[in-house]
Amino acid sequence: MPQKKKISILGSTGSIGTQTIEVVESHPDLFEVVALCAGRNVELLAEQCRRLKPRYAAIADEESYPLLKNLCKDLPVKLCAGQHAIGDMADTEDCDTVVAAMVGYAGLYPTLRAAKAGKTIALANKESLVVAGELVTSLCKNGNSRLLPVDSEHSAIFQCLQGNSRSEIEKLILTASGGPFRKHSREMLQKVTKEEALRHPNWKMGAKITIDSATMMNKGFEVIEARWLFDTGCDKIDVLVHPQSIVHSMVQFRDGAVLAQMGTPDMKLPIQYALCYPERKANSFKRLDLAEAGKLEFEKPDMEKFRNLALAYAAIDKGGNAPCVLNAANEVAVAAFLQDKISFLQISDIIEKTLQRSSFIAKPAHYSDYVDSDNEARRIAEELTTH
Ligand code: NDP
Repeated sequence: MPQKKKISILGSTGSIGTQTIEVVESHPDLFEVVALCAGRNVELLAEQCRRLKPRYAAIADEESYPLLKNLCKDLPVKLCAGQHAIGDMADTEDCDTVVAAMVGYAGLYPTLRAAKAGKTIALANKESLVVAGELVTSLCKNGNSRLLPVDSEHSAIFQCLQGNSRSEIEKLILTASGGPFRKHSREMLQKVTKEEALRHPNWKMGAKITIDSATMMNKGFEVIEARWLFDTGCDKIDVLVHPQSIVHSMVQFRDGAVLAQMGTPDMKLPIQYALCYPERKANSFKRLDLAEAGKLEFEKPDMEKFRNLALAYAAIDKGGNAPCVLNAANEVAVAAFLQDKISFLQISDIIEKTLQRSSFIAKPAHYSDYVDSDNEARRIAEELTTH
């Protein structure tokens, strides 16, 4: 009997986290959950502990710890709280695979710890590569850690690259649904509400990534993520709007051949692929029926309307700490939009101004450089949201 993979799920209560649990539960012979971590949803975390019986569970919000303790008092699970505890779950000797499914900048620290400890990382938390792609990938190299994409586009590219050499890549083509406002004019975008922005046409995801999809910052982040995952210059990474979200992404090779990976819009497939890699395991997920899908459309993205995509390309082109600033400003602006403090179009204004006003570090060398840049950019962006 092959040994079960021992998994830590960081962000177990979120959209990717709960779907990861579904995948894990459908293959009890393959996986054992060692640790679960969440931000502040204690009730769901406690319920997951009851079901999956992990050795450890951690909650980032320290104030929620007493309630977690109370809800799990009859369970043989070691409990802990705080960001350091989440890091401990990422590099514990008891696990070999870490699913990084936390949202935002908070995912960077545990991802770095998993990388240093040589874990296999199934990476959903794209923000850690946006903020500090160079640091994360170099630590993975030095720590012998394998970074496997969970994001459907990057999983698609990764699947297309199996059996092909990276030196043969001519272009990576990331597909984008275009979000709920694909057909809106800029005038119409001025008036959109958060309820409309949260209604994604194809994918059911957490609130932050859903807003990022509506502004197309998500696609900008994915360009940066692809740059680091596949060690490819951004001049070789194109974005193509494909409203049906069936072609998950493509690779064009130097002989002109284009390989695509297709499927229904369901994150469980890329999650399972990352967890089972290099094998493909049978499952009962809904199959793609191309006749039922009908027409597949493709169009160029409108970067004047969706300025965040242009800002992301500019940030990675500038390099250094610019993508870190981009991410921090975006997190602040998206939170402000979700609290009805700013309008949809102001999100890009705030990001652009924060990029102009933040200190530029051409070669951030240490984790602390990113922490300082993130702090400064957040301060600037917060000020901009209130003026
Ligand atoms: P959700 O908002 O649904 O879930 C986020 C998870 O992170 C929750 O478990 C949350 O805990 C936890 N969390 C939040 N803050 C902290 C913190 N400070 N410390 C520890 N845990 C924290 O997000 P998604 O699942 O949608 O997205 C997760 C990541 O995956 C993002 O980076 C996103 O870009 C990426 N991704 C998501 C896709 C999707 O389909 N959802 C597709 C591709 C990528 P709690 O609920 O307890 O607050």
